[in-house]
Amino acid sequence: MKTDIKSLSLSELKAEMENMGEKSFKAKQIYSWLHKRGAESFDEMTDISKKLRENLENSYDIYNCSIEKKLVSMYDNTVKYLFRLHDGELIESVVMKYKYGYTICVSSQVGCKMGCRFCASGIAGFVRNLNVSEILSQIYTAQRDLDIRISHIVMMGVGEPLDNFDNVIKFLSMISDENGLNIGMRNISLSTCGVVTGIYKLLEKKLQLTLSISLHAPNDEIRSRTMPVNDRWNIDELLKACRDYTKETSRRISFEYAMIDGVNDSDECARELASRLKGMLCHVNLIPVNSVKERNFRKSNDKQIESFIKILEAKGINVTVRRTLGSDINASCGQLRRGENNQDN
Ligand code: SAH
Repeated sequence: MKTDIKSLSLSELKAEMENMGEKSFKAKQIYSWLHKRGAESFDEMTDISKKLRENLENSYDIYNCSIEKKLVSMYDNTVKYLFRLHDGELIESVVMKYKYGYTICVSSQVGCKMGCRFCASGIAGFVRNLNVSEILSQIYTAQRDLDIRISHIVMMGVGEPLDNFDNVIKFLSMISDENGLNIGMRNISLSTCGVVTGIYKLLEKKLQLTLSISLHAPNDEIRSRTMPVNDRWNIDELLKACRDYTKETSRRISFEYAMIDGVNDSDECARELASRLKGMLCHVNLIPVNSVKERNFRKSNDKQIESFIKILEAKGINVTVRRTLGSDINASCGQLRRGENNQDN
């Protein structure tokens, strides 16, 4: 089997070139083609000799994301991609335009094991982890297709990034490397449903990225009803990991909270949430839950969201409501892939 060349770090590629009897500077040239210019074939590498290109072709594969479907929102130009991978699996990415630049939301796995009740990503179960190259390629393909420069990344697509830990860490190191796209850690957010062991492993890496926690409930009773991961690590354990994370990195934690009508949106829930987060360096991001066909959750009404915000603010908690982008193109996680797989059935 051929080696997945786009998943190799620059030093790994240098070692490979030396083994092939090539000069190590060739590695830098190839790396730059793959990671700076987003080359999708060896033929594009015009300053590499034909002979070497042939040798590369024989030993390596370049795994790309091919665009299976592309939806552009009429309202805000949000673009949602359904990408096909080399083995036929489908993943999703979304590109959003903000005042400060373009942000891409990338997937980390095909499907998801976590089974959050309100989420479309896990309905069809887990298939496999994404390789490093497949996480990178989502960004390279989108940049190329839209002819833009992406400046911010959120790991909030399909999958649980901390459940694909090693590949995600290698992806982070390659995307922030000056020999690649050189996107700074401070422009990257990683979201987890609360894999506490993963948070501690991440903490040891001392990265300056923003850690987002999908909290979605103020107590274990509600959280366990909506998020099975809570039975493995409860809210106390999760918040302790968050405090430790901040202590180590000085980074503010971002808590995601999907507002679900009648489930987690009462004034009582807001008070309970405020008291649990008291004293933490954090921010709460409220998201009116997106309805998913297979689930019967409804989003909270505006009045209840207003009331929830007021209570949190009165307790000194920093809170915002996430702006909805791409609402006409099912831009939220797992929805497009889910729709496509259903059509196949
Ligand atoms: N597995 C990671 C990464 C996915 S991020 C995590 O759970 O954090 C995607 C974010 O969207 C998470 O906060 C997730 O809980 C949230 N989400 C999933 N389904 C949603 C829905 N129907 N409406 C609003 N937010 C949802």
